[in-house]
Amino acid sequence: MAALKKKDLDKFKAILVDEKKKIVQHLMDLTQSSEQELQNGSGDPADIASLEISQANIAKIGRRESTLLKKIDYALGKIEDKTYGECEECGEAIGVKRLEARPVAQLCIDCKTEQENAEKRYSSRDRDQDDDDYDRDSD
Ligand SMILES: [Zn+2]
Repeated sequence: MAALKKKDLDKFKAILVDEKKKIVQHLMDLTQSSEQELQNGSGDPADIASLEISQANIAKIGRRESTLLKKIDYALGKIEDKTYGECEECGEAIGVKRLEARPVAQLCIDCKTEQENAEKRYSSRDRDQDDDDYDRDSD
């Protein structure tokens, strides 16, 4: 029951690929590698969406970016599976507005709020600051 239309999926895929491209670019700057060198395995090097970055290279980028990269790949996988845009908790549509603000969101705002409240209540540990919080503050 994917609530997103094909054109929405295409749009979010483009956004996610674009975000991934920025990380890949950063990694290329860091390592002075080419896209092709970064690729682990076969495939079309021009296809950023399917570009796999090796663990060794992931270790070179910051924690924030590597976390984001995982989320982007995960979200891209969900687009392929046609489950993108559904809340993983309740199965409801996450909503285009929320996805626009946070394309890697896995939960709807209700479930996310509940999760955050539960974490506040039960956890005194340091939280993973990246969590689901994906701010588009670059540039
Ligand atoms: Zn939900």
